[in-house]
Amino acid sequence: MTTTRWKVSLDQDSCISSGICQALAPGRFEVRAGTPARVVSEEVDREDALLDAAESCPVEAIGLVDARSGDVVYPPAD
Ligand code: SF4
Repeated sequence: MTTTRWKVSLDQDSCISSGICQALAPGRFEVRAGTPARVVSEEVDREDALLDAAESCPVEAIGLVDARSGDVVYPPAD
């Protein structure tokens, strides 16, 4: 069985440094006071905590894409 891989993106121009992503997915995001968050690894194994972080970002700055198919995982299509 192959593990689903996700590509993680983060729009630093939108980020308000709330720290929510880092709190929900420790080790996946790094947030330092007053500076935009950054993604620690741009491609990672599928992880519920990442989806929680993306869904909880107050400015919807986090995107998740299936690394193999390119299908958008988050944000959902309208
Ligand atoms: S949750 Fe969103 S706004 Fe908050 S630090 Fe992470 S990317 Fe930035």
